[in-house]
Amino acid sequence: LIVLDRVNKHFGPLHVLQDVSLSIDRGEVVVVIGPSGSGKSTLCRTINRLEPINSGTITFDGQELPAEGRALARLRSDVGMVFQSFNLFAHKTILENVTLGPIKVRKEKPAEARERAMALLDRVGIANQADKYPAMLSGGQQQRAAIARALAMRPKAMLFDEPTSALDPEMVGEVLDVMTSLAAEGMTMVVVTHEMGFARHAANRVVFMADGQLVEQAAPAEFFANPTSDRAKDFLSKIL
Ligand code: ATP
Ligand code: MG
Repeated sequence: LIVLDRVNKHFGPLHVLQDVSLSIDRGEVVVVIGPSGSGKSTLCRTINRLEPINSGTITFDGQELPAEGRALARLRSDVGMVFQSFNLFAHKTILENVTLGPIKVRKEKPAEARERAMALLDRVGIANQADKYPAMLSGGQQQRAAIARALAMRPKAMLFDEPTSALDPEMVGEVLDVMTSLAAEGMTMVVVTHEMGFARHAANRVVFMADGQLVEQAAPAEFFANPTSDRAKDFLSKIL
């Protein structure tokens, strides 16, 4: 579904993505791990072209990614993104946050968008918070609302960039549960996370990045039992 071929990205003198090639199948759940500054967020952001790339190609669903215009807007709605900082619209209710994209971008009828939004909020366990504003919700509830908002656009894939890193520990589980159920339903997912439990249990593949390179990738059981590179061994020894 998503194929990156020798993608390079520079920020000035900094070569943040170095010949990154990665192919993600439909329904696959890929967890990306690696030290701070290794390029994980940049990788996510290039996949839906929030960041332009300097060379290489990215294809989505068989088509090369457009750099701009209507085709790009379409792609953005095909690829949902969830960030560490929930990025909800503060002055809109949770329900409005979820219906805004479907009504404005997908031209859904407001009544239908609301009905579907309520079903999605129910699914992530916060239907009873629909009329509240984001600031009235806990971090875990806000992040679940952000996931519902992304799903409302009917994405073909979802990118998660450290979705639980800003949460109090007791709220991490409720967000991971939602992500695990999405994974079980066959959603194609790229997840940057430090939650190794999620990587072990929900991922089909773990990709380890360091210094802008994909150093190693393997099924989780294999990766955690037998990391092959020194960088990955060193990283795992620090976090496990
Ligand atoms: P973390 O685990 O801390 O989130 P990361 O693996 O997500 O790190 P990136 O955010 O992708 O790393 O950053 C990779 C490198 O690119 C870092 O050295 C960072 O400082 C640099 N970088 C990221 N965004 C920009 C930008 N907009 N302009 C310049 N440099 C940037
Ligand atoms: Mg990051």
